[in-house]
Amino acid sequence: MTLPLSKVLARVPATTPFVGPETIERRRGCPFRLRLGANESAFGVSPKVTAAIAEAAARANWYCDPEHFDLRTKLARKHGVEIENLVIGEGIDGLLGTIVRAFMDPGDTAVTSAGAYPTFNYHVTGYGGRLEFVPYSAEPANDAEALVETARQIGAKLLYISNPDNPTGSFLGRAASAHILDRLPEDCIFILDEAYAEFAPQDGLPSIDAADPRVIRLRTFSKTHGLAGMRAGYGIAAPETIAVFDKIRLHFGVGRLSQIAAAAALDDAAFERQVVREVAAGRRDYAELGRSLNIAALPSHTNFVPFDFETEARSGRMLSLLEDRGVFVRRPGAAPLDRFVRVTVGTAAEREDFAEVLRDVLRDLD
Ligand SMILES: *Cc1c(COP(=O)(O)O)cnc(C)c1O
Repeated sequence: MTLPLSKVLARVPATTPFVGPETIERRRGCPFRLRLGANESAFGVSPKVTAAIAEAAARANWYCDPEHFDLRTKLARKHGVEIENLVIGEGIDGLLGTIVRAFMDPGDTAVTSAGAYPTFNYHVTGYGGRLEFVPYSAEPANDAEALVETARQIGAKLLYISNPDNPTGSFLGRAASAHILDRLPEDCIFILDEAYAEFAPQDGLPSIDAADPRVIRLRTFSKTHGLAGMRAGYGIAAPETIAVFDKIRLHFGVGRLSQIAAAAALDDAAFERQVVREVAAGRRDYAELGRSLNIAALPSHTNFVPFDFETEARSGRMLSLLEDRGVFVRRPGAAPLDRFVRVTVGTAAEREDFAEVLRDVLRDLD
């Protein structure tokens, strides 16, 4: 029998945005010794978070508060907005799906950089939208001018960038985001994915103007706060935009423990600052490692560093040499970025371990 699929889905190819390290471990038949491929935090979670989860564990039988009231109240205070400006979702990844569903009809187009964060593309394809890719600039970085001009030319419904950017680590300051807003066509929504905002120069982040209905800012508890496994992220937008999400979002999608953990994380600003400092030190270590081995490392405003192996063939070989040695890292999916290998900042001990393995496998690279 042919499955009676929706017209949209019948045309969607089976894709997955990420192959998980667990999948590779099952294939390899043994666990990774260094897990540096998914930009998970190497610095754990705040003791306030573990205490809050432990206390709430016995109430896992309850559904969460579908309005996420406590968490939104804390976030509103943190960002100087109203709770009507905030939506909570199953990480940024979940919110991207909600946004695409809210704004795109089958056949509509979204603009993004070629090789950018794949989950956005996954949702656009899944809802029958089309993608228009704009090459990264030479640095490489998101090319604000080309992105917004492309959106104008083709009448795009959505323009998506991550800033700081994954996978390049680059960062566009206020002027670039202001330029995008300036030139943004009517009926186009600008999605600003700020998963790495805490690692960026804080005075370079655009001010949170929750009144502009064309912008949706996305933040997550997965990176600095170390809660990737809990699935909690949020969007900041105009109240009329948030009200639209309330028509379609999954009300119990973010579990009760996740909500409580995220709220507790906001109570530990000292922990957050410590993680940001450790990550900055780790990026310096990786840059130094690159210099000592003659491998160019991109300047990064995130918790990872892309190392340049010059060609797609060499980066591919490096990936498999590292995998053979039990090191999980990733490579951007599209040319010309596929010459890089992206390495998450680990703890000081993990960085030393990685440096040793890298020195070793370099001998086998060419
Ligand atoms: C890590 C990452 C995310 C994932 O965020 P979740 O809240 O865990 O879904 C989203 N966007 C970018 C650019 C990321 O690098």
